[in-house]
Amino acid sequence: MMEKGLQLEQYLNRQWACSCGKTHATHLKAVAIRPGAVNDVPEILKSVGCARPFVLYDETTYQAAGALLQSALEGAGVAYTAYILPYAEPVPDEKVLGQILFNFDAACDLLLAVGTGTLNDLAKYVSFKMSKPYAVVATAPSMDGFVSSVAALMENHMKVTYPAHVPCAVIGDTDILKAAPMEMIASGVGDILGKYTCLCDWAMAREIEGEYYCPELVAIMRQAIDYVVQLAPRVPARDPEAIAGVMEALVLSGIAMAFAGNSRPASGSEHHLSHYWELQFLAQGRKAVLHGIKVGIGTVAVLRMYEWLFARKIDFEAAKAGALAFDEEAWRERMRALYGEGAQAVLDLEAATHKNGPEAVGAQLNAMAEKWDALQEIAVQLPPSGEIARILQLLGAPVAPQQVGVDEQMFADSVVAAKELRNRFGLLQMLFDLNLSRQAAQAALES
Ligand SMILES: [Zn+2]
Ligand SMILES: [Zn+2]
Repeated sequence: MMEKGLQLEQYLNRQWACSCGKTHATHLKAVAIRPGAVNDVPEILKSVGCARPFVLYDETTYQAAGALLQSALEGAGVAYTAYILPYAEPVPDEKVLGQILFNFDAACDLLLAVGTGTLNDLAKYVSFKMSKPYAVVATAPSMDGFVSSVAALMENHMKVTYPAHVPCAVIGDTDILKAAPMEMIASGVGDILGKYTCLCDWAMAREIEGEYYCPELVAIMRQAIDYVVQLAPRVPARDPEAIAGVMEALVLSGIAMAFAGNSRPASGSEHHLSHYWELQFLAQGRKAVLHGIKVGIGTVAVLRMYEWLFARKIDFEAAKAGALAFDEEAWRERMRALYGEGAQAVLDLEAATHKNGPEAVGAQLNAMAEKWDALQEIAVQLPPSGEIARILQLLGAPVAPQQVGVDEQMFADSVVAAKELRNRFGLLQMLFDLNLSRQAAQAALES
C-alpha cells in the first residue's frame, strides 16, 4: 500500500499568511524523498540554477551514496567536482573547515553535501560563508537539522552554534536511507518523538508567559509525529515507506522552525536535557551519543515528570516562599560547578533575563496557580511515557539515562541546570519555580 506521506511540497515556494498573525515561508525550494530519489538530483540542481556542484562526502557517506550519486550525475551529463573528507567520522572543527576550503573548486556554484549531521553542518557553514547555495543528499534519517538555519561546529574544542542558511534542496533516497545503521534511524525517530514534549512546553509558555504560539504549526507537527508513531512498527524491517515517513517528518520539523522563526516547534525540555548531557560528555572527553537517541531518552523522562507533576497537589504558597528565598550567589556557584568553562554564558543569560529571580518566578507561580486546570488539560494530551518507551524499545533504542552512561547525579543535575542554556519557559522552569526539580528527577528515574 502506498502512503500519501506528509506532502511537504505544499509548504515550499509559497508564502502563507497564517491565522497566528505571521506570514510563514521557507527558503527550502525542493524536497525529494522516495526510492531512487538520487536520480532527481540533476533535475533539482538545474531547477535551482546550479551548473556545477561541489560534492562533499566523508569516507562513510561516500561508501553509502557515492556510486549511486555519481552514476546519476554522470548519466545526466552533469559536470561536478567531488571531494571526500579523509575521515570516517569527521569532527566539524577548524581543521576540517580548512580542508574543505583548501579543496573547494571555485568553478563550482553550489555545495552538495552527502551525509547527515556533521556533513550537513560543515556544508551549511562553508557555503554560507562563501555566499553559495547548498543542497543535501541525506544518508541517514537521524536528526532534524537538515533544514535548520544554524550550523553546530566545534571551535577551540567547544561546541558553538553559528548562524548560517538553509539548503535549497533536500534529497532523501530511501534506497540509501534504509541501509543506514539502525541506531541512526532510531535517533531520527527519537528526535521526532521529542516533539510531543516540546509542543507541550510551547503550549505551557503560551499560557504562562503569553508567548507567541501557532496552533496551525502545532497541528502540522502533531500530524507528523502521529504519522511516525503509526509507521514505527515497520521501521525495524527497514520498510522504505516507514523510513521515508521518518525522513519527511524530520524535514518538516525544520520547515516548522523556519515558519515559527524559532525552535519552539521542534525543541523543548527534552532537547535541553540532551544538550546538557552532550556538554558534560564533551567536557569529560567521552564519546558522544547520537542526538536523537538522547532526545528519545529525554522525552521519556520529561513525559514521566509531566505525569508526576500533574498527579500532585501543588502547594503554591510554599513555592512562593521558596522563590523569595532564592539565593542568587549560591545558584551562581552551583552553575560554575556544573558548567565549568561554559558557565559564563549561563550567568550572562540570567543577568540579562532574571528568569530565576523572585520577581519572575513569583509571576510565573501566580499564573500557574490561576491556570493550573488549563495547564493540566494541556498535559493530559501527552501520550503515556510507557507508550513512547515501548516505541523506542521496539527499535532497540535505550529509554533510561543510565543506559547511555548518564548517571543519577548527572540526570538530577540536568533537571535543575539544563534549562539555563536558553531562556525558554517549559517543564524544567515550572519544576524550578515549584522547587520540585529534585523530586521530579527522582520520580523520573524510579518509574
Ligand atoms: Zn502560524
Ligand atoms: Zn533534535
